[in-house]
Amino acid sequence: MRIAVIDRDKCTREVCGYQCIKVCPGVRMGDETVSKDAEGWPVINEELCTGCGLCVKRCPVKAIKVINLPEEKGAPVFQYGPNAFRLYGLLLPKQGSIVGVIGVNGIGKTTALELLRGALKPNFGKAEAAGWEEIKRAFRGNEVRGYLEKLERGEARVSAKQQYVDRLASDEGEKTVEKFLADGNGGKSANAALARELAEELELGPCMKRKLSQLSGGELQRAAIAKCLSADAGVFFIDEPASFLDVRQRLKAAAAIRKAGGRGAVVVVEHDLAVLDYLSDYVHVLYGTRGVYGKVSGLKAARNGVNEFLDGFLKDENVRMRKEPIRFEVRRPGAHNAPAAIAYGKLVKKYPGFGLAADGGSVREGEVVGILGPNATGKTTFIKMLAGVEEPDEGSAPAKIAVAYKPQYLKADFEGTVRELFAKTEVDEFTFGEAKAKLELDELMEKQVAKLSGGELQRVAIAICLSRKAGLRLFDEPSAFLDVEQRLAAAELIKKTAKASGVPSFVVDHDILFIDLASDRVMVFSGNPGIKGSASAPTDLREGMNSFLAGQGITFRRDPDSRRPRANKPGSQLDVEQKKTGEYYYAGK
Ligand code: ADP
Ligand code: ADP
Repeated sequence: MRIAVIDRDKCTREVCGYQCIKVCPGVRMGDETVSKDAEGWPVINEELCTGCGLCVKRCPVKAIKVINLPEEKGAPVFQYGPNAFRLYGLLLPKQGSIVGVIGVNGIGKTTALELLRGALKPNFGKAEAAGWEEIKRAFRGNEVRGYLEKLERGEARVSAKQQYVDRLASDEGEKTVEKFLADGNGGKSANAALARELAEELELGPCMKRKLSQLSGGELQRAAIAKCLSADAGVFFIDEPASFLDVRQRLKAAAAIRKAGGRGAVVVVEHDLAVLDYLSDYVHVLYGTRGVYGKVSGLKAARNGVNEFLDGFLKDENVRMRKEPIRFEVRRPGAHNAPAAIAYGKLVKKYPGFGLAADGGSVREGEVVGILGPNATGKTTFIKMLAGVEEPDEGSAPAKIAVAYKPQYLKADFEGTVRELFAKTEVDEFTFGEAKAKLELDELMEKQVAKLSGGELQRVAIAICLSRKAGLRLFDEPSAFLDVEQRLAAAELIKKTAKASGVPSFVVDHDILFIDLASDRVMVFSGNPGIKGSASAPTDLREGMNSFLAGQGITFRRDPDSRRPRANKPGSQLDVEQKKTGEYYYAGK
C-alpha cells in the first residue's frame, strides 16, 4: 500500500508546467497515474502509482511525498482530501485518568484532538463525513466507542486549552484575567470556586485585574490552563501546557491538571517529556511520517510509553521510530578533567527595579553548562552580558572571544531564503552538515526566512549557532517551539559539537530532560523573580541540580531502564525519603 501527499500550500500548478504529470512513467504508458482535478490540482492515483519517485525528485517546490506503508493499514479514520494527510486510529479519553500524547509535529496530534472534540468527523478516507452508524460500526468492540456515542448525543462536554496562548493577548487582549476566567470555556460555564482555587494554585493572584494584552507568555499560559480546567466539563483537552513556564510552574500546572483528572477524562499533548511523564497515567505515541500519515499507538502505561519512545521502538506495534535510542548518562565521563577554557569574574547588572549578581566562574574545554532557574531571575541578562550585548555594571565579560549567540526571542528579519541565509554565514561545513541532517533543515532551504514558523526558525538559529566559528556558544531556550524529537536531537547536537570542537557552551532551558541530556555541569539562578536574581558558578550536575530542586521543593528519581530523570509525586515515599537525605536529583546506583 502506498500513500502520496501533495502539499497544496507549495504546489504551483501550471507555473511548473505539471512536472509531476510530465515525468510519470505511468502517464507515458497511457495511464491516469497523475491527472488534474477540476481546479487544476494534480492528483496522484495511489493504486496506479508504482512509487518510482520521479515526481518527488522533479517537483521544483518539493511538494510531493510518496511513502510505502510498511504494513496494510486499512482505511484511515480521517483524511483531509485526495493526496492529503491521513490519520489512523483515535485517541482514547479515559474517565478519571490522564492520557498523554507524544508525537512530532505534523503527525496528526491536533487532527486527533479535533476528532475527539467533534470539530472534525471521521470520513474513513472518503470525501464525505461518515454517518454515526458507520462510525459506531467501525469502532465496534473498541473502548473509544462509548466516548463516540457521548459525542453523538452531544454529551461529551469538552473543554479545550488552545496550543498558542500568545494569541490570547491579541484576540482577547482587552479582557482582565478575572473576566477571562469568569467567561467559562467553549460554551461551558465557569465554576467560580474552582476558578479561584486554580488561580491561586497557578499563582495568578497578582495578574487577576490585569488585561491579557499586558501579560507575559507564562502568565497567559497559566490563565489559559485555569480557564480550561475550571469549566464545567467532563473532558479536558490540553495542548502544550508547559510552553513559557519555568520548571516549578510546569510541575504546578501538571499537578493542577492531574487534579482535574478526578473530574473527568483528560488528554494532554506535551513535548517536555519530564512533564508529560509526571502528568500522565497512560500515553499514546503517534508515529508515521510527518505531513503524510500518523498512526495512534495502543494505550501504554506512561512510564513504558516514554521509555519506548526514547528507545525508538514501540514494542506492541513492532515499529522502529528511530535508528538510535536516546541514552541518558548518570555519570559524565571526562567532564571534570578538561582544562578551564574561559574564566569570568563576578558580574552585576542593574535595571530599574531589577538587579542581578552572578558569581564568577569558569567553563572547561568542550563542556556544556546548563542554566536553570525560575523565570525573571536574570538568566537572559547573564547570557547577554557574556554575549557582549549588555554591559555589566560591575565586572566584565571575558574579552577577545568570538561568541556564537542564539537569543531567546528570534527575529526573522533576514530578507531571503534559508539557503541564502546559510550562504551568508561563515560556518564549519562538517558541523553544519550534521545539524542540517539532524534538525531536518533540507525541507526549509527554499523557504523565505520571514515566513518560517517558530519551530522552523528555532532549528535554523540553533544550526547557525552550532556551526559558526566561535570560542564560546550561548543558547537561550533552544527547546522552545521544538517538538519532542527535535529537542532530543538538538540536545545531543549541542553536547556532541562541544565535545568534538572543544568549544564550551552555555544552555538556558526549562526542559529538564533537555538539560540533563546536554549538560556536563549546571549553573543555578535563584532570587525574587522580577526584583532580584543571583547566580552560582557552574557546579557539578548533581550538586547544582540538588540546589536548584531544593529551592523548588521538587525531587527527581532515575528510571532504572532508560536512566532518565522522573519527577516524584509530592508526598510520595521517594519524595519524602529523598528530601530527608538531600538527594533531590537522585543519581541512582
Ligand atoms: P500536529 O498537531 O501533530 O502538528 P496536525 O494534526 O496539525 O499535526 O497536522 C497533521 C498534518 O495534516 C500536517 O501535515 C498538516 O499540514 C495537515 N493538515 C492539517 N490541516 C489540514 C487541512 N485542512 N488540509 C490538508 N492538510 C491539513
Ligand atoms: P530570565 O531570563 O531569568 O527570565 P531576564 O534576564 O530576562 O530573566 O530578566 C530579569 C528581569 O530583568 C525581568 O524582571 C525583566 O523584566 C528585567 N529586564 C530585563 N531586561 C531589561 C531591560 N532592558 N530593562 C529593564 N528591565 C529589564
